[in-house]
Amino acid sequence: MKLSLGFILAISLAGLQFLAIITVVFTSYLTSERAMLQHARGLVLEAGENASEHSKGFLSPARTAADLFSRIFSSGLVASDDFEAMEKMFFQALLDQDQISGMYYGDEAGNFVFVMQSEGPGALRTKFVETNGESRSTRLIWRDTHFGIVEQKPDPEDKFDPRLRPWYQTVRTEQTTIWTDPYIFFSSQQPGITVAAPVVTNGVFRGVIGVDVEISTISNFLSLLDISENGTALILNENGDVIAHPNLDEIVVRKEDGTAGLPSISKIEDQVARGAFANIAQSGVVEIKSNVQSEFRYMKDTYLSLLMPIVVDDLPLTIAIYAPENDFIQVIKDNRLRNIWIAAVISLVTACAGLALAELILRPVRAFAVRAALVSQGEVYSAEPLPGTYRELEQANKTLIREIAQRRQADVKIQELNRDLSHFSRVNLMGQMATGLAHELSQPLTAITQNVDAAITTAKDMEGDSEELLSILSELDDQAHRGGDILRALRGFVRRDQGNQKPFDFNELLRQTHRLMHHEAEEHNIDLIFDVPGSPVVIANRVQIAQVLVNLIRNAIEALATTKGKKREIRISAIKNENRLDVCVDDTGPGVDQDVTLFKQFETSKKEGMGLGLSICRTIMEANGGRLYYDAEHTAATRFRMSLRI
Ligand code: ADP
Repeated sequence: MKLSLGFILAISLAGLQFLAIITVVFTSYLTSERAMLQHARGLVLEAGENASEHSKGFLSPARTAADLFSRIFSSGLVASDDFEAMEKMFFQALLDQDQISGMYYGDEAGNFVFVMQSEGPGALRTKFVETNGESRSTRLIWRDTHFGIVEQKPDPEDKFDPRLRPWYQTVRTEQTTIWTDPYIFFSSQQPGITVAAPVVTNGVFRGVIGVDVEISTISNFLSLLDISENGTALILNENGDVIAHPNLDEIVVRKEDGTAGLPSISKIEDQVARGAFANIAQSGVVEIKSNVQSEFRYMKDTYLSLLMPIVVDDLPLTIAIYAPENDFIQVIKDNRLRNIWIAAVISLVTACAGLALAELILRPVRAFAVRAALVSQGEVYSAEPLPGTYRELEQANKTLIREIAQRRQADVKIQELNRDLSHFSRVNLMGQMATGLAHELSQPLTAITQNVDAAITTAKDMEGDSEELLSILSELDDQAHRGGDILRALRGFVRRDQGNQKPFDFNELLRQTHRLMHHEAEEHNIDLIFDVPGSPVVIANRVQIAQVLVNLIRNAIEALATTKGKKREIRISAIKNENRLDVCVDDTGPGVDQDVTLFKQFETSKKEGMGLGLSICRTIMEANGGRLYYDAEHTAATRFRMSLRI
């Protein structure tokens, strides 16, 4: 199937347009996407650093407080058994540091003082456990922010013994400040972490100071952290437990024994976090020494992720952040889709414009094609103007028309030549027939002349009046000789005999011509006048010059024959001119037909004419060193002139 030029043009334009726009759209999309993702990684890192700083700012004061009190009590500035003084100090510290949920000191005897933030009836609550041998008493005191007692009561049911707590035992064993693993606080049921420091006076271990930090506040901070719409940050403990998550509910889980605990990253409900980070805790220890930024896929979406170590003193925590890529690049993805639509619409418009343009371009081409077809069939005259078109087409049109015209002409020429050929072959046939006829007739004519000669001799010898018989016989003899001359002339005429150019008496020739033509002239009431003085001798083939004269006189007779009631005269005159004899053959006929080109073969105005006479005569004259032409300047009569060598 051949496609139309217009269709190809439209499709090409639209295709190119589409390709160009799509290339720009995708290039700009890729560049923007790269930039946006780079920016997104920066944002994630920044969020991680924020979370890290916040966590440090949150946990460090607890450690500082634990170490400070450890030094104060160990140095004896405050006696390690002065629980009232301790309560005051803890009270002050808690007023200043609201992320610290409680401070306490337990000693080797099982005494315990614990000041904690309270939700009522006072701002803070103190618990005292005092032991004396086997007996112990527990008091609860709620105070306002000015240390005034709001309420107090004993708590005989409380069996708390600090010496049994893991933090106490660990510090007692290690004799240094420690962080506990994060766990769920007994009193608040919130995740928390404890920093505990030993009190040693004079080299004797006296007890342990503990500072509780409720890390749910970190979770609150993480939920406010602005990573991206669906970005999430969480904090993992060294063992892979999730200790902070924007959704606090996810990180307090019930263990099998009914106690509350923190979920491992491999068990957390946040499925994306589980999918992304579960593997890092597989070995049981999360070991992230430096920032790790990567990408992962979860449920067809791509996420950016970051793992960042936070080292608060020697507490090894890891911040894990994930954020869907689409949070950052969805806008440009939407934009890309919109741009593709725009490209499609523009391409469609371009295709329509292309079709219109193609139509505009093709109209003259089509007109040209139609015209070329018409011209080639000869239906449009080539000079007719071409409908408005392009320079190139106009040029092509001109060339085409010139080419075709040259072929028109060639055809005409061929036809002419064909016609000439058929005429020539007919003439040739005629010549052959005439030659044959002349040959056949010459013998009977010879026989006639011989017999006439014999008859004349016999008549002369006869007695009586044979005068008239002799006259008839001598006329017969003349006519028989004349017939012989004509036959010979005919044979010479057809043979175009150019040899035999000899001097002869021109007047003598005219007399013979007169004998040949005067009957024809008389038939048409024409005076045939020969007006040649003297006896000019010319050099030529006598028979051929006779043919020319006969032909010119016959043309004149035929011209006069078409007219009536006029002066009807044919005059042959001649004058010597240096070494030439100029002969004029004038007639008073109607003159030469304007449509006829004289001396051109087959140009004739006559029904029965062949249009060969004049051209043959001219050839004969030129072959005899003479000329033959029509004297148009002579207006008194129709004049043909011939010149002969003298
Ligand atoms: P043809 O006699 O067979 O037509 P010619 O070559 O002898 O051929 O003459 C060509 C034409 O020239 C004639 O048909 C005639 O129209 C024109 N022509 C020749 N002689 C004369 C004349 N004396 N007067 C007018 N027209 C002539």
